Amino acid sequence: MSLSLSDPASGVTLTPVRRQYLKIKHAYPDALVLFRLGDFYETFDDDARLAARELEITLTSRNMGKGLKIPMAGVPAHSLEPYLARLIKKGHKVAICEQLTDPATSRGLVERDVVRVVTPGTVLESALLDQNSNNYLAAVVEDGPAVGLAYVDISTGEFAATQLPSERLLPELERIAPAEILVPAADSLPSWVGEENRAAAMGAGVMGAAAMGTGVKGAAVMGAASVESKTGGDKRRPGSNDFPFTPYPLTQLNPATFDLDLARAGLLAQYEIRSLESFGCENLPLAVRAAGAIVDYLGQTYKTVKPRLAALSVYSSGAYMVLDPQTRRNLELFQAGRWENRKLSLLSALDLTRTPMGGRLLRRWMGQPLLQLEELERRLDAVEHFFKDAFRRGDARTALTNVADLERVLSRVQSGTVAPRELIALKTGITASARLAATLEGEGADQVAWLFRQLSPVPEVAALIEESIAPDPAGSLGEGNIIREGFSPELDELKIASRDARGFIAGLEARERERTGIRNLRVGYNQVFGYYIEISKANLGQVPDDYTRRQTLANGERYIVPELKEYESLVLNARERIQEMERSLFRQVCSQIGNYAESIGRLAAGIAALDVFSALAEVAAVHGYVRPRLNLDNAISIKDGRHPVVEQTLGPGAYVPNDVQLSNEDARIVVLTGPNMAGKSTYIRQAAIIVLMAQIGSFVPAAEATIGLVDRIFTRVGLQDDLTTGQSTFMVEMVETAAILNQATPRSLVILDEIGRGTSTYDGLSIARSVIEHLHNDPRLGCKTLFATHYHELTELAHTLPGVRNFSVAVVEEEGRVVFLHRIVAGGADRSYGVHVAQLAGLPRAVVNRAWEVLEELERPGSNRKSPAKRSSKSESAARQMPLFQPDQPLTDAVMNLDIPNLTPLEAINKLYELQEKARNPEDRLS
Ligand code: ADP
Ligand code: MG
Repeated sequence: MSLSLSDPASGVTLTPVRRQYLKIKHAYPDALVLFRLGDFYETFDDDARLAARELEITLTSRNMGKGLKIPMAGVPAHSLEPYLARLIKKGHKVAICEQLTDPATSRGLVERDVVRVVTPGTVLESALLDQNSNNYLAAVVEDGPAVGLAYVDISTGEFAATQLPSERLLPELERIAPAEILVPAADSLPSWVGEENRAAAMGAGVMGAAAMGTGVKGAAVMGAASVESKTGGDKRRPGSNDFPFTPYPLTQLNPATFDLDLARAGLLAQYEIRSLESFGCENLPLAVRAAGAIVDYLGQTYKTVKPRLAALSVYSSGAYMVLDPQTRRNLELFQAGRWENRKLSLLSALDLTRTPMGGRLLRRWMGQPLLQLEELERRLDAVEHFFKDAFRRGDARTALTNVADLERVLSRVQSGTVAPRELIALKTGITASARLAATLEGEGADQVAWLFRQLSPVPEVAALIEESIAPDPAGSLGEGNIIREGFSPELDELKIASRDARGFIAGLEARERERTGIRNLRVGYNQVFGYYIEISKANLGQVPDDYTRRQTLANGERYIVPELKEYESLVLNARERIQEMERSLFRQVCSQIGNYAESIGRLAAGIAALDVFSALAEVAAVHGYVRPRLNLDNAISIKDGRHPVVEQTLGPGAYVPNDVQLSNEDARIVVLTGPNMAGKSTYIRQAAIIVLMAQIGSFVPAAEATIGLVDRIFTRVGLQDDLTTGQSTFMVEMVETAAILNQATPRSLVILDEIGRGTSTYDGLSIARSVIEHLHNDPRLGCKTLFATHYHELTELAHTLPGVRNFSVAVVEEEGRVVFLHRIVAGGADRSYGVHVAQLAGLPRAVVNRAWEVLEELERPGSNRKSPAKRSSKSESAARQMPLFQPDQPLTDAVMNLDIPNLTPLEAINKLYELQEKARNPEDRLS
């Protein structure tokens, strides 16, 4: 971009503002620059076209030199936030360029510069934040087999870093779900992004970059929607046979940003310390490099005020249970089912927290179950403290309703974006902490003393807000009713003077009417002339000598008198000075509060924890949960366990409780058989969920539970509807199963649901069987496994493998109908009740009757149906089945000619539909 004085295309001499703009835009080529011009933020050139499209605002043009018209689109400065929100949500970076000098007083060109670059990972505006989840900015740096990962939520100050083996990065990123990921710029995307994702992402990135004029390759990888809108008519469609990409919102930075020495220096400067030892990351160079990149990036995006960061917490991913994405999804931890319903998730079943801070903390805990016994006992002690005493719990929960989002208010105080009312909320929250602390006293106080210490209120801040801020302040600054009377004598005097002056003017009308005898004399005000006295035409003869005429109207004249002008300037000056003083006092108060940031941050964290503990206690009390006994044994024993979410949906008393017994020494693998809809999936998930709840420190839905801590929970479900990723479902199933067989340890809990269902019966049965054998026999694995299957043939394994036990879901037959008892009993199911279920599902009577006939024929002695695995040869069974089918050559040919490996799931479904249509309309068959 040229910075010469004239426009390169037309040679027209540019205006100074245009030159100023171009210079700034030059410094921020990859951001959309919002350029403050008076009461508007304007965009120009390509930025203007983009803004007009994305924000649905009018594209106009502005004269920037003789005859040079530049495209322009703007938004009013006072309503920036919603527009900003839209741009950020669509994946754009926005540079906000402010006027640094007052246009009214500055001579020549108003100084302007970018004060902040807003990116998805660095937003603080409440319109852009979901109050119940964190908004993370992450940084990832790779070195050989290891990666450094750091992440920060600048709206709460949380800042963490770790170093981990590359293959553990993706589950960790999935857990954190960052809004933006910083990576060192390179010619290709980082290797952890994965082959398939990379191909798609690069393609999308290039398209997006060209349309947006950005130099950042990954910037457009933020979501298909934004790519589409940027290119206007994107040809890639999800569901066709290209691979839809996982949206990693990458921002590539100069690799020097990740330099170890610079990173260390940046962190030392950020915290004003001399060594990183206190954070425990001296010997974790990759963690330091990632954390350093974040600090550097915040410096680049927050030009004027630095956001607050809590102490860097360095963690080892080995301290937490790893939950891979499939497991999070299968256990429906955060959203349930195909429609990703949040309300039916485990989180929502347990989340009775009363504050946004508590809500975020519970979500975090659920994503990171613990592996340390002591920490878990500490949490359980705290839950029990509130569980035991309903009054105490009620007190805590009542007090919590008055607590605002202290973490985010604090961050806004420090960044100077806090609203006056939020300070009142901060005070209320701080005051409530005394009541909260009281709930930690009394019986059992020793167990929660650690939390009590965190809840020390910050009386200085409460007092400061109390005396400085009016009890019900205006929504925004500048009206003169933010600062409380008595806080600043100077401000009070100004207000009195201004009030007096206004009083004088108000009284002037009556006095002048009396003096002049003009009954309809009027005192008024307008922007151009200020205060005036208006006299109608009929009374012009009575105007006194000391009036000076200012304006002639159709039916009268407007005058001023010296006194009026004197008071007028008093009023106007006072108003300006009041605004100014109010702003400066408010800033002063905020900066004083900022001095207590650490104490307020600690208090907020304490309140969040107390919120979670009392909420978990409330759930436990309402639904009858118990405290689990935790140990390091290799066994899991649950008496009368329930699935917390299904139980809540069914309502009280409807759920049938069941036991779970698993132990490495004895029953290591449970094969669970039973008809469809009997409750197999529910049962095995329930076991996993109870273990998970215990390991976040929650009570569990059971009569008794003893849990030997588990290092990982794996869950895999056969025949998953994986249309969204475009992979063959069976392929996915096998890849996922392979991952378990490679990673599980004797401390792991494996939940397999209908593995092998995604292929033909014999294949599926064979695969299911060999998976169980492998889980049982491989000495490196030794994990505890619950295996649900409708292949009742698998029950035979228990006869040959000592660690395998058979269980089944009890079913009774009443007059040819099945009734599901949902009770798990020892022993395998002897049959699958498929026809019963078909009947229950309302299949036409004729079909059901025919099915009974066929079944009878198959089950006649010698048919071998019960153990297909034992059949001597496939051809023999095929021969036996033949009579069942009407041979149909054209249809068979059509099926045989399908090129299955090259069909997408969607095409397969279409094909199937077509074949079915053909079968229905025999006449068409030859066509
Ligand atoms: P399967 O996996 O055997 O086909 P599911 O586990 O999907 O069966 O359960 C089917 C339905 O049965 C569930 O949606 C639930 O409503 C009900 N159900 C399952 N387990 C129980 C139980 N223990 N008590 C009451 N209802 C249950
Ligand atoms: Mg099932």
